[in-house]
Amino acid sequence: MVVCRDWAGGSLLTNSEHVDQYDLLIVGGGMVGAALGCAVAGAGFEVCLLEVREPQRSWPSDEVDLRVSALTRASQRMLENLQVWPDMVKRRVSPYTDMQVWDAGGSGRIHFSAAEIGEPDLGHIVENRVTQLALWERLESLSNVTLRYPAQVSELQTGDAPAVVLQDGGRLTSELIVAADGRDSQLRQMANIGTRGWDYDQHAIVATIRPTLSHRYTAWQRFMKTGPLAFLPIDDGRCSIVWSTSPQQAEALTALDDAAFCRALTQASEAILGEIREVGPRGVFPLRLGHAETYIRPGLALVGDAAHAIHPLAGQGVNLGFLDAATLAETVIDARRAGRRIGSTATLRRYERARKGPNMAMLGAMDAFKRLFSNEVLPLRLLRNLGLSLADRSGFIKQQLVRRAMGLGGDLPRLAK
Ligand SMILES: Cc1cc2nc3c(=O)[nH]c(=O)nc-3n(C[C@H](O)[C@H](O)[C@H](O)COP(=O)(O)OP(=O)(O)OC[C@H]3O[C@@H](n4cnc5c(N)ncnc54)[C@H](O)[C@@H]3O)c2cc1C
Repeated sequence: MVVCRDWAGGSLLTNSEHVDQYDLLIVGGGMVGAALGCAVAGAGFEVCLLEVREPQRSWPSDEVDLRVSALTRASQRMLENLQVWPDMVKRRVSPYTDMQVWDAGGSGRIHFSAAEIGEPDLGHIVENRVTQLALWERLESLSNVTLRYPAQVSELQTGDAPAVVLQDGGRLTSELIVAADGRDSQLRQMANIGTRGWDYDQHAIVATIRPTLSHRYTAWQRFMKTGPLAFLPIDDGRCSIVWSTSPQQAEALTALDDAAFCRALTQASEAILGEIREVGPRGVFPLRLGHAETYIRPGLALVGDAAHAIHPLAGQGVNLGFLDAATLAETVIDARRAGRRIGSTATLRRYERARKGPNMAMLGAMDAFKRLFSNEVLPLRLLRNLGLSLADRSGFIKQQLVRRAMGLGGDLPRLAK
């Protein structure tokens, strides 16, 4: 009888008991985990995905969910390659052709336009549940995928024989376990992987609103001392807002009745879209920067928010997560073709090397942006306004910025090309 040891030295599994064996076990079926599942299952891997809750399956067609993401062109290409984009389009994706960013503390302003770079749009605003459901339906259509929900892990074993024990007593073994269980990742904690980061002392209020003026398929963002306010266009004329501000102001704003909230929003946006005349339910998310000290252990890899949590001001969180998923998929597919073990440190290092640097650079850039725009020191204010205006007039800088924002900069994994 073989007794496997977990990373703390305790025994977890014996081969005399029934175990379900997979190539890849993904814990967390949010957008990132589900995308990874589609990518590796498409290449023939035997995949199991564990999720604590079933995704929402249906909703009224005129309802816009509170949680939306601005998806880059790189993410769109990945979702097209995974054959889920057409289903997402059927449900609703809202293209935006322009982006307007301006500084509340001066005259600095920058305008990006898809027309300037010969593209039909800069990206799409998509409800998270639309993306997640399309990916789940794809997973459900694949015979080499097992979806288990509700399911929760009670023990994790990494090393040469990765395995989990579920709360219901089930035991699953796999060549590689992937933690895709979000910002507060239970698996990351079980593997004793620490994170570096801090609370932003900002909360993001999210809601769907209807302005009196047309949003002109433009994503609008005003930087204020208390935090950025973004209007993301939905194709029925409404906008999804992300209003990042101090926890105290967030609490006060969410306590307002609808009419008073609309007035406050009209004022905070300088009525750029006229008066705000309708607001739906509001949600609040505390914001935090977090980066896992390592993305890998033997037999374990972290992807998406489990590896990095970023300020939503540039709408990059899930886009980075999709690149993690595409890169990890490519790494394990290549490893298997070359006859290497997919859970070995040598294989997983390739994934970590490819993703940790770019993720750290984006986390750092967004953090610097957030600090720069919350700073009221006069020279800094002048400098950032000047910087915005200069960048607005420089075709080259703008093109570089817009390519980055569309996720087209740097080395892209095959799936996102
Ligand atoms: C206000 C706001 C606005 C944002 N806007 C954007 C944007 O415009 N563009 C963008 O790219 N990003 C945006 N983001 C970030 C984006 O939402 C996240 O990066 C993205 O949701 C991360 O996806 P994920 O699949 O890694 O994690 P999650 O979405 O957190 O999914 C994790 C999944 O794991 C499941 N789970 C959790 N624990 C367990 C467990 N123990 N066992 C099994 N399953 C488990 C959960 O139920 C969930 O389904 C925004 C974030 C916020 C807060």
